[in-house]
Amino acid sequence: MTDEPVFLPGAGGCGPPEAQHLALVVAGRKLLLGADGHFPRIADLPGHSGWVPLGTLDGVPAWGTAPPEGAEPAVDAWNGKNGRWTGWPVLAAELPTPLAALAGRAVQVITWRHSHRWCGACRAELADVPGESARRCPGCDLYVPMQLSPAVLVAVTRPGPAGLPDELLLVRHSYGPTELWALVAGFVEAGETLEAAVHREVAEEVGLALTEPAYFGSQPWAMSGPGVLLTGFTATAADPTAEPVVDGRELVQARWFPLDALPAELPPAYSISRWLIDSARAAVRR
Ligand SMILES: [Zn+2]
Repeated sequence: MTDEPVFLPGAGGCGPPEAQHLALVVAGRKLLLGADGHFPRIADLPGHSGWVPLGTLDGVPAWGTAPPEGAEPAVDAWNGKNGRWTGWPVLAAELPTPLAALAGRAVQVITWRHSHRWCGACRAELADVPGESARRCPGCDLYVPMQLSPAVLVAVTRPGPAGLPDELLLVRHSYGPTELWALVAGFVEAGETLEAAVHREVAEEVGLALTEPAYFGSQPWAMSGPGVLLTGFTATAADPTAEPVVDGRELVQARWFPLDALPAELPPAYSISRWLIDSARAAVRR
């Protein structure tokens, strides 16, 4: 699509908020969205302040904030217009990718800011650093940048029986959307490469060894806490006869599915999990 909007994330270079700039209000993990699927403008939301820069959408600066302290995040916050509070998954399923990315960044930045209000060293109240996604302590000068949390996802395949398609490893979790068949995933440890995290997570969660993983792509993810960056990999099982073994705590099920007979309960279409699965499925020779 050539007419898709362009979202450029960033924190600086746009001066103070102006009336026609975009305004993303985040309450808990929900955003205020118009019934027509558009974000409000700064002028639509008198009484709101504490705007932090998020980037630009088609050149228009976008700002995020939380509802005014003590105020109920009511739908009529938006000047009586038909605003609604929308969770990021619903929004990501409905809106074009760049708008979902902007909304995801708003959720991440505003929730991070909410949980980084006080200095961890001297307990003074942190202040925003202009032009950056960072806060600084006026008491002891501690600099607190918004840190990212990288995580890995891996689509593990193995050759199918003679003449049949390759098979994909899918797992079911004991928490979250337990009905979904998902990919093995986990956070990267400090001091670990992404590739090492792929090997470790697959070994820990299903007890399988892999060939060297190949990078697939990445996606900022607003659902698992501030700053989460998902990175996707593909890999093949080192031993094509090995079966996955789950620990019964984090995972309750793991099994191989022929790529032409995957279950219907797959991750949503806007997730990198699904992009990896669809890519593996598209590679099946017919
Ligand atoms: Zn301090």
